[in-house]
Amino acid sequence: MALIECPVCRKRMSSKAPVCPHCQASTNGDNESLSRISHIQKSSSLMNQSFVAMTLFIAGVVIWFWGGEPAEGMRANIAGICFVFGFVGYLITRVRIVLHKRKSV
Ligand SMILES: [Zn+2]
Repeated sequence: MALIECPVCRKRMSSKAPVCPHCQASTNGDNESLSRISHIQKSSSLMNQSFVAMTLFIAGVVIWFWGGEPAEGMRANIAGICFVFGFVGYLITRVRIVLHKRKSV
């Protein structure tokens, strides 16, 4: 059994349920492919998030070392924010991807 997104109200429901428990929409018994589609969509959105986080991280590093001198003042703040958010965001996204991949489809 897997959790899928209801195609109508976007709430989580069981792939085995014939109708959505939230909005009573029928899923036409096509839950397996719905579940697969929702899994693939989730995977690609997680990949996008990790790409954005990685870009932010690299941007932070580039801003920090721009011009070959240590960043100061405003530039250091901007670089630090990019660096920390990118790094933490990337770690969180990686963990979510691993957890997501463990779920069987
Ligand atoms: Zn629903």
